[in-house]
Amino acid sequence: MNIAIDGPAGAGKSTIAKKVAAKLNFVYVDTGAMYRSIALYVIRNGADPDSEVDMANALDKIDVSIAYEDGTQHIFLNGEDVSTAIRQEEVGNMASKVATKAAVRAKLLDLQRNLAASQDVIMDGRDIGTFVLPQAEVKIYLTASVGERADRRYKELVEKGQTPDLEQIKKDIEARDYQDMHRDIAPLKQAEDAILIDSSDMTIDEVVGEIIRISKQV
Ligand code: C5P
Repeated sequence: MNIAIDGPAGAGKSTIAKKVAAKLNFVYVDTGAMYRSIALYVIRNGADPDSEVDMANALDKIDVSIAYEDGTQHIFLNGEDVSTAIRQEEVGNMASKVATKAAVRAKLLDLQRNLAASQDVIMDGRDIGTFVLPQAEVKIYLTASVGERADRRYKELVEKGQTPDLEQIKKDIEARDYQDMHRDIAPLKQAEDAILIDSSDMTIDEVVGEIIRISKQV
């Protein structure tokens, strides 16, 4: 069985998908981490994401793979575990840029589909229900207001000991939403058969409970 969770940046997709996966005994696949790994390579090597030549060279040299340790996804860029390094804001913003490129999306598609073909997965991203797994038995479009998403991100960073700027976080989220929703290939949008969950006024456990309830109905 496949569960697809799509939605904008900061809607809580990964937190929620991890919990649903643990309760249903599914494998959680974070596709954003794959785009982030390519972005990390681009940043580290000073490649220009808008140069076709630079990106073709980079993609030739990039190998992205994932492995699970105690049920947690670890992502490897050319053999290096980059699971922590890819979490920086800069990497997320670059991921949104490289994700507009057809060659980047094509490189990750097989990896994503193969993971879903062989096991029960809950996969989160932007185009899972619309493009990667159109046959998924359950499709959720998880969103929350921009203000709420920015507040959550702000609190997360404060808890990590950082001193974030709330207005900047809000601007970054809006820019990323715009870029993800308006690109030519596989833009972020709700699949026709996806169920909309707005988590602005819901707790994490309420959202998890709702997705499990929906999953048990199919
Ligand atoms: O979800 P996360 O913030 O890790 O994703 C980083 C970026 O990767 C997104 O802003 C989006 O541009 C891209 N992405 C995508 N398709 C996916 C998952 C992520 O285009 N399935």
